[in-house]
Amino acid sequence: MKWQGRRRSSNVEDRRGQGGSQRSRFGGVGGFNPMLLAPLIKLLFSKVGLIIVGLFLVVTFLTGNNPLTIISQFFTGGPVQTETSAPYQGTEKENELAEFSATILANTEDVWNSLLDNYRNPTLVLFTGSVSSACGTASSATGPFYCPGDEKLYLDLSFFNDMERQLNAPGDFAQAYVIAHEVGHHIQKIMGITAKMDQLRGQMSQTEYNKYSVRLELQADFLAGVWANHSQEMTQMMETGDLNEALNAANAIGDDRLQKNSTGRVVPDSFTHGTSEQRMRWFKKGFDTGDISQGDTFNANPL
Ligand SMILES: [Zn+2]
Repeated sequence: MKWQGRRRSSNVEDRRGQGGSQRSRFGGVGGFNPMLLAPLIKLLFSKVGLIIVGLFLVVTFLTGNNPLTIISQFFTGGPVQTETSAPYQGTEKENELAEFSATILANTEDVWNSLLDNYRNPTLVLFTGSVSSACGTASSATGPFYCPGDEKLYLDLSFFNDMERQLNAPGDFAQAYVIAHEVGHHIQKIMGITAKMDQLRGQMSQTEYNKYSVRLELQADFLAGVWANHSQEMTQMMETGDLNEALNAANAIGDDRLQKNSTGRVVPDSFTHGTSEQRMRWFKKGFDTGDISQGDTFNANPL
């Protein structure tokens, strides 16, 4: 893809290096044990406790510093560093992927604002390790996801690495497809499809609901294809081989393929995203037509 030098979206929240990552310097030591609370309160009201509190106040008054900070500095040999104080230092490759993602997001904004009157831009949250969202806390193992509750896309850039190495789905356009797919879920939220799905959830068995989930996911693939069509018309970003990168990725993350790789067998009833063939076909349909009205996966028969 010829993506460099284009507009980057400002709707990006960079939460890399915060919470949940295994980068904590004080891993495990910093947790507070509630069992310590009772003896602490007792100590506070004893004479010794009063003297300690008095000393704390004197030190604070004289130095303007929290005495705990001073004690901590004494033991660690330097000023206390909180984890969130330093900006995340990504590798060169990570930072390039962050720029790439912001550029693709900007392009989805341009395309969808031109196609939909009521479009509103979602936010892209970059994270490492785990992240909390309006949909709960998620770890990187979940893969990229969209949370309708806060209208944000959540992405750990290491997923792109996994795609390349574990799923054998390399390429920048494959990565763009992943972002465009999550944006597709955002469009479903705007169109009220997500709300309808939530209603259905309580009315049927899991197996029955999974069938709707497949249709929802295939529609997000279709919408990613529609984006690619209009993006190409607007920017000519795509190069030879790019379409195949996306189709290869859609093929690699089909439920049947993923299940076969992990369990060695395929259980169609538990599909929630669609088979490799279905995912490729719906993406391709969106790309070929560029027409949102062609994407009614809920009434398509056969799917
Ligand atoms: Zn999805």
